[in-house]
Amino acid sequence: RAFVRMADVGHRYDPSPDAPMAVQDINLEIHRHEFVAVVGPSGCGKSTLLRMVSGLLVPSHGEVSVFGKPVDGPRDDVGIVFQKPTLLPWLNVRKNILFPLKHKYGRYSRADEKRAEELLAIADLEAFGDKMPDELSGGMQQRVGIVRALLLNPDILLMDEPFSALDAMTREQIGFDLLKIWDEQPKTVLFITHSISEAVLLADRVLVMSKRPGTVLDLIDVDLERP
Ligand code: ADP
Ligand code: ADP
Repeated sequence: RAFVRMADVGHRYDPSPDAPMAVQDINLEIHRHEFVAVVGPSGCGKSTLLRMVSGLLVPSHGEVSVFGKPVDGPRDDVGIVFQKPTLLPWLNVRKNILFPLKHKYGRYSRADEKRAEELLAIADLEAFGDKMPDELSGGMQQRVGIVRALLLNPDILLMDEPFSALDAMTREQIGFDLLKIWDEQPKTVLFITHSISEAVLLADRVLVMSKRPGTVLDLIDVDLERP
C-alpha cells in the first residue's frame, strides 16, 4: 500500500504555456517507513519533488496523495530539514528542539521533554542541551535540526541535502548518528543528496532523476546490510 503516491505529476513554475516544465511525467509510490534517497544532477527537480510532497508546492499537473488523500496545501504531519540548520540563536539547544511543539500545540509535556533528552542522546548531543547554537559546530547544529524535526513525530521526514555543507568526516559521523535515530523511530523519509555513497548508506531505495526533462528514471532497491 502506497504511503506517498505521485501520478502523472508535472510542474511549471512559470504559468505561461511555452515555459519549460521543471519536472514532468513523475509516477512513483513510496511505502510507509521506507527511506528513499533522491539523487540526480543539480536542477533536475529534486527540491521541487520534495516541496510537492510537503504541500508547500501544488503541482500544475497530476496528483500527489499521501495515504490516499490528495495533497492540496501545506501539511502539518511533515517534518523538513534543510541544508542549513535554522536554529533560533536566542534559545538554547533544548528550547530550540522543543520550540516547534510549543508553537504547534502551545505547550509541551514532561514526556516530550524526556523524548527530547533521549533524541539528544542518540545524536550524541546529551551534554549540549544547555548550550546556545553558536557554541556548537555546524555538524552539531545540523544534528539539532534533525532532532527537532523528529521530536515533532511527523509521518514524513523530508531532508533537502542536510549534510552537504559539512566535510566528509562529519558527514559520515552524522550519517551513522542519523541511522541510530532511524532504527529507534522508523519514519517515512525522502532524502535529497548529491552523494551516491550517502544514498546507498542510508536508503532502502534510491530514486534517480534525470536532468532533462526532469523525470524519474528509476527507483532502485538498495540491497545492502546496514552497518
Ligand atoms: P534540484 O533540487 O534538483 O537542484 P530544483 O527542483 O531546485 O532542482 O529545480 C528544478 C528546475 O526548476 C530548475 O530548472 C530550476 O531552475 C527551476 N526552479 C526551481 N525553483 C524555482 C522557482 N521558485 N521559480 C522558478 N523556477 C524554479
Ligand atoms: P505505526 O506504524 O506506528 O503502528 P500506524 O500504522 O498505526 O503507525 O499509523 C500511524 C499514523 O498513520 C496514524 O496517524 C494513522 O492515522 C495514520 N494511518 C495509518 N494507516 C492509515 C490509512 N490507511 N489511512 C490514513 N491514515 C493512516
